[in-house]
Order: sequence, then structure tokens, then C-alpha cells
Amino acid sequence: MSNTVLVTGGAGFIGSCLVRQLVREDGLQVINLDKLTYAGNLDSLADLQEDALHLLVEGDIGDAELVTRLLREYRPSAILNLAAESHVDRSIDGPAEFVATNVVGTFTLLEAARQYWNELSESEAAAFRFLHVSTDEVYGSLGKTGLFTETTPYSPNSPYSASKAASDHFVRAYFHTYGLPTLTTNCSNNYGPRQFPEKLIPVMILNALEGKPLPIYGDGQNVRDWLYVEDHCRAIRRVLAAGQTGEVYNIGGNCERTNLQIVEAICAALDRLRPDLPHRPCKDLITYVKDRPGHDRRYAIDAGKMKSQLGWSPAESFETGLEKTIAWYLDNATWLERIATGGYRRERLGLRELQ
Ligand code: NAD
Repeated sequence: MSNTVLVTGGAGFIGSCLVRQLVREDGLQVINLDKLTYAGNLDSLADLQEDALHLLVEGDIGDAELVTRLLREYRPSAILNLAAESHVDRSIDGPAEFVATNVVGTFTLLEAARQYWNELSESEAAAFRFLHVSTDEVYGSLGKTGLFTETTPYSPNSPYSASKAASDHFVRAYFHTYGLPTLTTNCSNNYGPRQFPEKLIPVMILNALEGKPLPIYGDGQNVRDWLYVEDHCRAIRRVLAAGQTGEVYNIGGNCERTNLQIVEAICAALDRLRPDLPHRPCKDLITYVKDRPGHDRRYAIDAGKMKSQLGWSPAESFETGLEKTIAWYLDNATWLERIATGGYRRERLGLRELQ
């Protein structure tokens, strides 16, 4: 089967990391289909600009004609679906886009994949994979104890998690109804370089650097499990290589932290790394703000199946991962500035695009 894979959403935070690993570590040809919404950032792919193994195509996973044309032309051996609207707060303000991309877009992609898969030879069809990247938020909220497993019933509480849950169900249905060789991963909160500064960790780093308040929802005691983005991408590649079709794999960092602990850790690191900042100690900038509606209290992942069946576990500790992340934001002021000015959207970096 071909050495080519189709990645969707590869200009986003996790997608750009995954594309880099697929090209650099696996030597795969990556067709990167991305709509370049506000969250898609070509600056995050700048080092892959000249790489013949990377082809960016600006387009929508909901564009059936385009997706079908790409599949027929490039004949990928796998589709890795990361394209999504991904920010919970935005889903509360405007859920329609989440339904359009996460639900209808994923459905459209599945339908194009099914047709393409039916056209493949027997051996190609047997090797083909549709890997859908999803979130632990589909499982709803935990109490003080317990962990999400692959059999935890779905109980989404935000428009974002509801849209991801719907897409997961379609993926499941395409395996059971049509036999499409699907794989689904449900992962906990990611952090790392190149995350759009609307999510907790980059927002706190940036605000702290600028001496702005560090807004924490509610009492700051909401718990999330955190995973370094490179570990997540290694896990996705492991599932692609060795996962069993029709299966779901939970991916997590075994790293529960309250939001307050996260912000305090960022502050402690910044006080150490940037003693020149005028606003010290950084944690004096913490302010509590009105809680997010429907805010899930605790998420925690049991990633035992990934470990026992696929031999994956995270390589990065939270402490070293956070330090690397902060260092990346400190070293990449231009990446941030171009987001602040909108320059990252107005310009194209000359990546080859399909007409
Ligand atoms: P992101 O918001 O940084 O990137 C999403 C990318 O998808 C962007 O490049 C955007 O331009 C693209 N996109 C959006 N709509 C599209 C469409 N209709 N067609 C084609 N491209 C489109 O998101 P992320 O944090 O990198 O998340 C990637 C995936 O991983 C998502 O499916 C998300 O649900 C899932 N996930 C994220 C996390 C996390 O902590 N960030 C955790 C678990 C799972």
C-alpha cells in the first residue's frame, strides 16, 4: 500500500506536531487537508515548508468533492482525522460551527473514505485505516475518584464534547455497519509548543509575561489529566501501526492537576526562568472569574489498554514538559506576535497548494 497518509487539521496544535512526526520520523508522505480557520497556523508548519513529503491543501473536510479527489489522486493508506473546532468556550458562544465541522464534516469524510475504500484492491482495503482523534470530554465528568476507560458510557456536557461524541458514534457505526477499518482515540488535555493562545496553558504564560491577570474559572479546583503533545502524537502513530480496527484507545498522561495547580506551576517556572519580569511573584496575578457554564469537574484517563496492548506510555513528565513548553513560548515571540497582529492568517508561506 502507498506510503501516503491524509491528515486533516494538520495546521492545528496537535496536527502540526503529528505531521512533523509522520514526515520526519516515519518518512511518510503527508497530504495535509486543513481549512485554515483561526486555529490553523501555517507558521506552525514553517519548518516543513520545503519538505517534499508535506503537501498542504487548504480545504474543508465537509467538501465531499475535494476529499474524494484527494483520495483518488494520492491514494493514501490511511486517513487521520484531527480537523475540528476544538475550544469549549467557543462552542458555548456559537455551537453551529462545531456541528458543521465535527459532526457533518466527519460524516462527510467517513462517507468519502467508505467509497474510496470500496474501490481499493482487496489487499489495499485490508491495510487501509481511518483513525479518528477524539477527546476524553465525551465521557462527561467524574467525581473525586474513578477513571475513564474505553467502556465508560458517553455523557457529554458541552456543545464541543457533544459534537465530538456524535462524530465518535458515526465512526463506530461505519465500522459496524460497513466494515470500514476504523480506530478511535480519546485523549486527555494536551499541552506543548504551538497551542493557540486561547487554551489554559498558553493563555496563562502570555498573560503572565504581559503582567495581565491570570483568570481562573470558579474555585480553580477542576481537575484535568495533562499529556505532552509529542506523547499524544506518538500514541496516535502507535495506534495507527498496531491498533485493532473497530477498537477505541484511551490516551492519557496519568497526570491529574487542578487548574490552580497548573497556573501555580507556570508561575513558579516563570519566576525562575524570567526573574526580570516586573510582576513578581507571578502568582499574585491570579484572579478567580465566574465559572464556565456546565464546567465538568474532573476528567481522568485510564490509559492501561494503550500500555498493555500497544506498549505505549508517556515519555515526558509534566514538570519537564511544562518547562519545555514555557521555553518554547519564550523563544518564539514572533509566532505569538503574528497571532496577536493577525499576520499568521493574512499571509501564506508559499506551501504548495492543490488548485
Ligand atoms: P486546533 O483547534 O488547534 O486545530 C484544529 C485544526 O483543524 C486547525 O488547523 C483548523 O484550521 C482545522 N479545521 C477546523 N475545521 C476544519 C474543517 N472543516 N476542515 C478542515 N480543517 C479544519 O485543535 P487541536 O487542539 O490540535 O485538536 C486536534 C484534534 O484533537 C481535535 O479533533 C480535538 O478534538 C482533538 N483533541 C484535542 C485535545 C487538546 O487538548 N487540544 C485533546 C484531545 C483531543
